Amino acid sequence: MQKQWESVIGLEVHLQLKTKTKVWCGCSADYDQDPPNTHTCPICLGHPGTLPKLNKKVVEYAVKGALALNCSINRVSAFDRKNYFYPDMPKNYQITQFDKAFAEKGALEFKLKNGKEVRVGITKIQIEEDTGKSIHVAHESLMNYNRAGIPLIEIISDPDLRSSEEAYEYLNTLKSTIKYTGISDVSMESGSLRCDANVSVMEKGSKVFGTRVEIKNMNSFKAVARAIDYEIGRQISELEEGGEVFQETRLWDEDQQITVVMRSKEEAMDYRYFPEPDLLRLVIDDAEVEAIRKTLPETRGHKMERFIKEYGVSEYDAALLSADREISAFFEEVVRASNNPKASANWVLGEVFRVLKEREIGIEAFPMRAVDLGTILKLIDKGDISGKLGKELFEKKLYDLRSPETIVREDGMIQVSDRAAIEALVGEVLTNNAVIVDDYYAADDGRKPRVLKGLVGQVMKASKGKANPNLVTEILLEKLK
Ligand SMILES: [Zn+2]
Repeated sequence: MQKQWESVIGLEVHLQLKTKTKVWCGCSADYDQDPPNTHTCPICLGHPGTLPKLNKKVVEYAVKGALALNCSINRVSAFDRKNYFYPDMPKNYQITQFDKAFAEKGALEFKLKNGKEVRVGITKIQIEEDTGKSIHVAHESLMNYNRAGIPLIEIISDPDLRSSEEAYEYLNTLKSTIKYTGISDVSMESGSLRCDANVSVMEKGSKVFGTRVEIKNMNSFKAVARAIDYEIGRQISELEEGGEVFQETRLWDEDQQITVVMRSKEEAMDYRYFPEPDLLRLVIDDAEVEAIRKTLPETRGHKMERFIKEYGVSEYDAALLSADREISAFFEEVVRASNNPKASANWVLGEVFRVLKEREIGIEAFPMRAVDLGTILKLIDKGDISGKLGKELFEKKLYDLRSPETIVREDGMIQVSDRAAIEALVGEVLTNNAVIVDDYYAADDGRKPRVLKGLVGQVMKASKGKANPNLVTEILLEKLK
């Protein structure tokens, strides 16, 4: 009988914290646009005799992240040295938390597309420092130490994931959860999020995990999913052919879409961890944790529930509207200004998302204030403009600095609800379209509404879209009787 396999996946995510300065020194952490080695000092260059001093903001941000991921905060933790020799680490060791991390035992919950609910434990979160960056050119390697000493948190998940899809959704959930807290840009593309995956396979139903392989070098969430799928397939065929899976580190090759061996267990580094003697233990008291907890924004899950309950939007729409903290704030402002949650959701998810996509911008660069969109929706609700003119007004407002009311007034967009004016237009259209009128009388009840719609369209055209369509229909029906 064919063997059934089950895969076991754990993820290690490194996040850069968006503090103003680095973790042990006063160098500016906003280094991305600047020339190499301009954000450095004797401390982050590892000069002998210098001493690190922990940036308090790093602790605050790290605790914020840990609370958002439902972790418990250890009141006392410590720093350790991870020793290795590599040019990107001028001290020849990285300061991290090995024995006792500042946070542990968290969890993230999410739902898969098929509705399956998944809960993934978070083993621990540790504070550490980023390394410099090597740039390899021809026969030389160049070093840029601007990134050395940028604060990181490493988030280590329990081996609770069972498929690439679950890993992908875990990363998306982690990203939106952390993004809400504002402690990190959480962007894999720009390098503020990095992810390694531990993958093993075992026979279905087994309680004993297989030999695990670490995969590195993925540059997007999709690449993480593909690397996991490749690795699961590779391990299964290795085992089915009577081979063995070795404990090793493999690199994802994006061009070839395969993993290749980077180092085997025999070559694995011995990091000779030992307690960092230059830093005090990290003590975080209850009052501090509670104060930080109070600054946390509403979680996405809570916001989704609230959108469904308060605004009556569907679960699907609530998920889209709450995925990004700025989008959800924009949406709620539109609701406040328009007093129409349903229309606000439709317009934000329709028109606003369309413009963001067309222009490839985020909501912060959207050229219209939420309150202006709210006003447009209100003008439609009041019957001042038709829905169709509302779309036109929306397009205009993207480029126009005048208020929506002013545009409507000055550009003559006000909907005509004057009975006499519409009666005159209807009379004109009926005289000029005798064939359609005859057709209307000849049509059976099933077809009549369609012919009527055509006539409404003619009147709307004659009014240049400004006539109130409900009134047009009403008057047409009266005259056709
Ligand atoms: Zn420095």
